[in-house]
Amino acid sequence: MLIRNAPDVYEKLRHLGGMATDDVLSPAERSDGAARPSDGWERVGPRGGVTPHAGVYRAAMPNGKRISLLRVMFTDHCIMDCHYCPNSHWVPRRRYGFKVDELARLFAEMHGRGMVDGLFLSSGIFKDPDATQERLADVVEAVRSRHGFRGYVHLKVMPGVADDALIERSQRLGARLSINMEAPSAERLRRLSAMKDFDNGILAPMRRISGLMQERYGGAVGQATQLVVGAADESDWDIHSRVRSLYGDLGFKRVYYSAFRPVRHTPLEERPATPPIREHRLYQLDWLSRIYGYEEDELRPAFDDGGFLELRADPKLMIAVGASERFPVDVNAASERDLLRVPGVGPLAAQRIVGQRRRHSITMRQELQAMGVVLKRALPFLRFPGHKPAAAKQSEMPLFRERLADAPAPPPQETAALHAAHAASGCVSCPLTPTSCGMAA
Ligand code: SF4
Repeated sequence: MLIRNAPDVYEKLRHLGGMATDDVLSPAERSDGAARPSDGWERVGPRGGVTPHAGVYRAAMPNGKRISLLRVMFTDHCIMDCHYCPNSHWVPRRRYGFKVDELARLFAEMHGRGMVDGLFLSSGIFKDPDATQERLADVVEAVRSRHGFRGYVHLKVMPGVADDALIERSQRLGARLSINMEAPSAERLRRLSAMKDFDNGILAPMRRISGLMQERYGGAVGQATQLVVGAADESDWDIHSRVRSLYGDLGFKRVYYSAFRPVRHTPLEERPATPPIREHRLYQLDWLSRIYGYEEDELRPAFDDGGFLELRADPKLMIAVGASERFPVDVNAASERDLLRVPGVGPLAAQRIVGQRRRHSITMRQELQAMGVVLKRALPFLRFPGHKPAAAKQSEMPLFRERLADAPAPPPQETAALHAAHAASGCVSCPLTPTSCGMAA
């Protein structure tokens, strides 16, 4: 398959800026930590409105600041066989590719005009991983040295890259690096690609990057990755176990989840799509572990015997309902950690409660609401002067889990329809309120 150079740079941008949306990383997030719907990216213009600028997206930085990125692929030509990917060699369509100087100039021009603040650079593997990585590094080198750009560059590292000097160079040039892991183990990855090597092509460079970040001053300071959810029959527990080791052992900053969508002409084209709610539940679990500080043994009850998260209720609610003896917690006496275990109470709200009650007792639900507590979710789990949840509500909590357990577990592919029907029905299986179960929101 040939890369044609006939199209002009703007036509390439239209295609390769658009194609990069199939390669999801760094999605902008809601303040409650939930991933945004669809692909997690907002397409925006320099002043915040929707715009025809191809490839310009708004993303959340690690510090919470939101910036506009040129999110683009160097080429969508790829020799690889990933069964879920529209860029794989299976898919017969026209491919596009930039030249190094062309892409560097384009970015510099867009940055100079205030259209973008940073660059997210990805690519298909057009010859081999090292040759592709070299080209990507060349683009960033040109952007940095020739055009004087000092800002944020998220640089993809190609799976299978073997040249250590290239990994070092990429670490020096980028601000954040990522290699897509795609599946949580070698065995699962083999179901998605016969060409990728999990241990040597993915884990080994990840370890090398992690080591470089610890040894060196400067260069990329964060590493991220992405997993495709539901393409390799992996369980949520498989994913969670791998993700925990990435955060814990390799110091990853973020892991992103992308629900599998079948692509025509690929070996998985007949496989039903993974319901987006599964991706959403994994993001929620990720936040419980990473931001809320849940320990491993606290998270285990969120999974069923098969290692899957309950799709009909969020993991925090599942954990809380399973530990109903701990509730209700006293708003005016509970530790910040215990407050954080209450559904509807996030880190900011927990901090505000602890700060506020140093001055006076909290006695009104309006105060909690003003501090960011989601009352519909939290009230069954909290007590304060003037509010004690009805005993019936408490006694129903264990039943909630039993009812879910008794209900036939939906096959994952049917869950989207189930979700819609459940939300429309007003959450009949839930002893809490329709919104507090997390389904109707
Ligand atoms: S290596 Fe990347 S771009 Fe190429 S087919 Fe696999 S996922 Fe797609």
